[in-house]
Amino acid sequence: MLKVDLGRVDREGSVLVETEVPADDALWHDSGIDWAGPVDVRLRVSLAGTGEVVARGSLKGTLAQECRRCLRPLQEKVEEEVTLVFSADVTDEDVGDGDAYPFDPSKRDLDLGEAVRGEVILATNPYVVCDPECRGLCPRCGANLNEGACGCTAEEVDPRWEALRAQKDR
Ligand SMILES: [Zn+2]
Ligand SMILES: [Zn+2]
Repeated sequence: MLKVDLGRVDREGSVLVETEVPADDALWHDSGIDWAGPVDVRLRVSLAGTGEVVARGSLKGTLAQECRRCLRPLQEKVEEEVTLVFSADVTDEDVGDGDAYPFDPSKRDLDLGEAVRGEVILATNPYVVCDPECRGLCPRCGANLNEGACGCTAEEVDPRWEALRAQKDR
């Protein structure tokens, strides 16, 4: 669970939240993020004294992505050091404007989920390639051009020559 009891944080000074968020957790739904395994979350939560709550720590996981050119499955490691600031002065509409996330001081628990999800989305590159030299797939037959020419590349005729030839034939 990514919830922390603020009363406990107040009493103990800080609370360490250590958990594994499963790859299929509702937190990742509609985020565009696919994980190859659980995500390690380790955050130390403390009160900042100015009516803010600060969570500092790391997010670690392995993304299940695919090369955007050849669609080969890729596993990308994500390891982010994060500092999440929650402020009672921030409303839901402000999210994205600044660095702080909203929290409601009248509630006993602070849910870190939305902030963790937000940080992960920021840290992820959705456009990965297996290799900068990846040749991708043939747009005609779909063959993987990294494995060799597919045959249609050689026969391909530049449409401009086609047009010239048509004029000559007249
Ligand atoms: Zn590729
Ligand atoms: Zn081809």
